[in-house]
Amino acid sequence: MRPNKLYMVIPCYNEEEVLPETARRLREKLTALMEAGTISPESRVLFVNDGSKDHTWEIIARLHQENPLFSGVCLSRNRGHQNALLAGLMTARERCDITISMDADLQDDIEAIDGFLKKYQEGCEVVYGVRSSRTTDTVFKRSTAQGFYKLMRLMGTPVIDNHADFRLMSRPALDALAQFGEVNLFLRGIVPMVGFKSGIVEYERHERFAGQSKYPLGKMLSFAFDGITSFSTMPIRLITLAGFGIFVVSLLALLIFLVQKLLGYTVQGWATLMGSIWLIGGLQLLALGILGEYIGKIYMEVKHRPRFVIERVLDDSPAGETLPADRNGWK
Ligand code: UDP
Ligand code: MG
Repeated sequence: MRPNKLYMVIPCYNEEEVLPETARRLREKLTALMEAGTISPESRVLFVNDGSKDHTWEIIARLHQENPLFSGVCLSRNRGHQNALLAGLMTARERCDITISMDADLQDDIEAIDGFLKKYQEGCEVVYGVRSSRTTDTVFKRSTAQGFYKLMRLMGTPVIDNHADFRLMSRPALDALAQFGEVNLFLRGIVPMVGFKSGIVEYERHERFAGQSKYPLGKMLSFAFDGITSFSTMPIRLITLAGFGIFVVSLLALLIFLVQKLLGYTVQGWATLMGSIWLIGGLQLLALGILGEYIGKIYMEVKHRPRFVIERVLDDSPAGETLPADRNGWK
């Protein structure tokens, strides 16, 4: 019986301040799990350098040199958290049985890994880490995040509440994820779409260990906007609906203007002027919306560009080996 090979996937952008500590804690945790026979001694921590401008990559390369437990992927430029994470997951996919993705800043609780592995053992292919409370976040971040999850669901995207990107994915789930050709990537929306049996592990979210958040408000808003627009053409449909609504109202308004004119309440030319403004406005918006519908359809079809470019991989284990999954043979 062979214990499962785990890859921890950690996207890093300018994380030189926390990386040594993150590496130390992960080494401790994984070594303990290896000694207990829960995971294979071939397991790895895969850091993805997302085009950092500081010494992040040098630190990763040094860690790899000192200990083969640490591997690294270096992207050719900064592509954002989601793309960096995907690059890591796709690199890990061919080398392992399970991946667990985690932020570099130690906000996610490393001890939750035990719970993840237990759920996997019970047959879950995807396990979501869910924050049990958001007390370490500012009121602003908490309420905007909550509003965002609500809005996402309203727009028809199945997202898990209070789940960031701390999650376990097994090889079959990763293989399925690889078939999604999204360019505007929003993993929190795609992973539930991939399906499979899934589970949830609650954990306490900590403060960032060191350094600044790499998600200032602007980036967060654009992340939320991407999340919505890459999953639904609902905003376009709203334009169509608004156009249709205004068109209908304009017909009613025309009727009222006509009656007013017949009763003699209006100045010369007023009814025709008002009527045409409303009618043309409504028709224009409707036409825009219909055009948008087609653009939306095209948009959904053309997502075929590569999502990241890997410059270099530091990892000793061979890619593409076939591994039988015998998750129930664990100790
Ligand atoms: N990150 C990344 N590329 C970016 C921005 C962030 O790989 O362009 C990584 C970052 O290093 C961290 C994770 O994404 O490991 C989450 O970022 P952060 O902790 O700054 O976000 P927050 O927790 O404040 O939402
Ligand atoms: Mg963070």
